[in-house]
Amino acid sequence: MLKDLMNQKNEKMNTTKSLYRFIHRHKSVSKIDMQTEFKIPLSTLNRMLDQLETMGLIRKSGLSDPNGGRPRVLYEILPTAGYIFGIAISRSHVTVLLLNLRFQVVGEKRFIVTRLHTPNKTMKEIQKQIQQLLAEKQVDKDQLIGIGIGAVGPLNREKGMILNPEAFPAEGWLNVPIKDIIEDALSVPVSLNNGADLAVLAEYYFQYPRVESILYCTIGYGLRCSFIQEGSLLNKKDGDASSYGHIAIEAINGRPCSCGKKGCLNTYVTFDAIMDSIKPNDLPSFQPVENIAEYLVSEIRNDNPIVKEAIMNSALYLGIGIANMVKILHPKIVVLDGQLVHAYQDYYLEVKKAIQENRINQSNDILEIRMNSFGEQTTAIGAAVQIYHEKI
Ligand SMILES: [Zn+2]
Repeated sequence: MLKDLMNQKNEKMNTTKSLYRFIHRHKSVSKIDMQTEFKIPLSTLNRMLDQLETMGLIRKSGLSDPNGGRPRVLYEILPTAGYIFGIAISRSHVTVLLLNLRFQVVGEKRFIVTRLHTPNKTMKEIQKQIQQLLAEKQVDKDQLIGIGIGAVGPLNREKGMILNPEAFPAEGWLNVPIKDIIEDALSVPVSLNNGADLAVLAEYYFQYPRVESILYCTIGYGLRCSFIQEGSLLNKKDGDASSYGHIAIEAINGRPCSCGKKGCLNTYVTFDAIMDSIKPNDLPSFQPVENIAEYLVSEIRNDNPIVKEAIMNSALYLGIGIANMVKILHPKIVVLDGQLVHAYQDYYLEVKKAIQENRINQSNDILEIRMNSFGEQTTAIGAAVQIYHEKI
């Protein structure tokens, strides 16, 4: 198990650990590549490789023949030598993923966050789903490297605590020590970070490792954004990604915002803002809805023209707001995420168009705008990547 290697305190094992990380990072590596990196005699390298193979952490993966010369033996990690949980907690749902050491998802559970989901109930449900996934996939708890959690901010990363997030449907989401609760219950290391930051980390790590800057925007009950520049996250100390939603769009005569100001972007683009823009008398069958996200998505499928128009009107505002961010941050790629982005193609295209039309395009800079790559799994995958790099 990978944990056995990482738990070794003997300093002599440090190079062996670095060798493992090197093989993990490069997926498939020859001895020549390893010797070039570590500058160690072949006999030492062979001893370390034997050790990693005996521990069941690496294996020979095949042969390469780069220049038509003698084929070289390649080494790769064993994906099943350890497992990681990646969890995403948003105001609409919770995703729990079990991943192997290649960050391949081997099991997934989800639940919708309702008015009944107090922190206590949510934490219990997460623990239950972790236990179920371990049992279903026959993974022993001892094989777990850690549990990475991405959540709505603001939060205290060091203490692993959600502070006072906006708009959770249930009571009690104030200073919730998520890291301590899950660590105490399962005796596995836990890390907590902002969900938006972890989502952009996943895109950077798997999709665009050579792209110098990415802006990631998730639209839902709030607008959460994150920005990564050459591998470094631009994150606020309190892990809050929601301040982007309070950019003023109509500061003088705008709609009142929960922050006390007027005309913030949020007041035009969030699920609640879209619902508020639909007058109940426009919809004869209108009933107050408990789960706005589900309602909007189902009405898109039902082709409800009033709901669709309200969503499309919000797209222009979102595009203008993101174009303002682009003017300051100059990303090479903007990644869009959120249930409406995935459920309603016209909305996604309208947001893209509004960003392109409203950004400054002085030197014919090319700005790519894409949908996120891993759908609703993105944040949880990013959380797994982060805990892996913290622990390994
Ligand atoms: Zn505001």
